[in-house]
Amino acid sequence: MSLIATSLPKTPWGTDLDALRRADPELAGVLLGEVERQSGGLQLIAAENFISRAVLTALGSPLANKYAEGYPGARHHGGCELVDLAERIAVDRAKALFGAEYANVQPHSGSSAVLAAYAALLRPGDTVLAMALPHGGHLTHGSPANFSGRWFDFVGYGVDRSTGLIDYEQVRALALAHRPKAIVCGSISYPRHPDYAAFREIADETGAYLIADAAHPIGLVAGGVAPNPVPYADVVCATTHKVLRGPRGGLILCGAGLAERIDRAVFPFTQGGAQMHTVAAKAVAFAEAATPGFATYAHQVVSNARTLAEVLTGEGLDLATGGTDTHLISADVTGLGLDGRTARGRLAAAGIVLDTCALPSPGRPAGYLKGIRLGTAALTTQGMGEAEMEQVGRLIGAALREDGAVRSQVATLAGIFPPYPASDDPRTGAGNH
Ligand SMILES: *Cc1c(COP(=O)(O)O)cnc(C)c1O
Repeated sequence: MSLIATSLPKTPWGTDLDALRRADPELAGVLLGEVERQSGGLQLIAAENFISRAVLTALGSPLANKYAEGYPGARHHGGCELVDLAERIAVDRAKALFGAEYANVQPHSGSSAVLAAYAALLRPGDTVLAMALPHGGHLTHGSPANFSGRWFDFVGYGVDRSTGLIDYEQVRALALAHRPKAIVCGSISYPRHPDYAAFREIADETGAYLIADAAHPIGLVAGGVAPNPVPYADVVCATTHKVLRGPRGGLILCGAGLAERIDRAVFPFTQGGAQMHTVAAKAVAFAEAATPGFATYAHQVVSNARTLAEVLTGEGLDLATGGTDTHLISADVTGLGLDGRTARGRLAAAGIVLDTCALPSPGRPAGYLKGIRLGTAALTTQGMGEAEMEQVGRLIGAALREDGAVRSQVATLAGIFPPYPASDDPRTGAGNH
């Protein structure tokens, strides 16, 4: 704990862990415990990462004090000149990074970005075609527990049972039969890239908008290892905190023709004041994502996932689509005599943290989860490569067999790759010159 305290650099506004400890020892204890948890195990949640110190500094800055409803140059509050500059920088960097005509960097989360995209393009009661939830659709793709399922009429497409791949003929047939106002491509667990050109063609054929929910792969797009949905989709929704390694938040990219509708859908329709500390942190993350170091990281994320997929197959896991092209692996564990929740529990007991995963399970009760989902972004940020992935894959296999020796091996491996090493932060490129 003292190590963490002394390694925190002091900011002009005097951020310092001791101040928090003195003011609120209870919360400081929770915070430090969480820092230790994150560094003491293997973080394989596909949506998580370790942001840089530069991004953390922007997030914990007095920009959090500023109210800024509206957009740069058109705010409802005074004193916005400098946060306007921060937002303009974030927008320009996002546009350049993804080759988009327009970017809105205000959505508070990926879900808020999707909500705003729907608000811009749809009316309540409209039909939307999206990936069915048991096949990997997100809550915002029509879950009855979410606004999307209540306000729109969702039709779900799925994956082919034998290959695990999206069945584009089914997508086309459903689009022709239901004439949706919008088609959504994007998933929380599909380990391959959507064929954006095929989706565009189907959308054109049926007169639908195409919304790409690229929350997961947008960081791979930034790093040049995934196809860019921007040229194909009318609106691209994304998160900034997954593979992209920025602050927790959302992002919308679109053509100039939809810019005004998207802006109004974010504010004032679905949100109030922008969180300017987060917007500033997004700007920092976009700049980091434009560096050669980030491209190297993104390539490593994908090759690590490939290696891990091979080892896990050898450990008896049945991988959706037989492997991965992304950072993400979805695996059926029923062949090992387990269900997703039991598998996640055994892995957690060994210090290996990942998610359960919905995979099509006909004949099983609703809520039954037969898979696990994992991703390699966080471990790659920590500096792990293929050699470590072989070790991680074997540790996962052993933990699923409840091999008691795994916990200490996990701790040893994690200890070699601290997420916040004392030396230069590789995420900002500070060590490269
Ligand atoms: C993560 C994710 C979201 C939502 O992001 P939040 O920031 O958690 O709201 C939306 N869609 C997809 C496909 C996602 O993977």
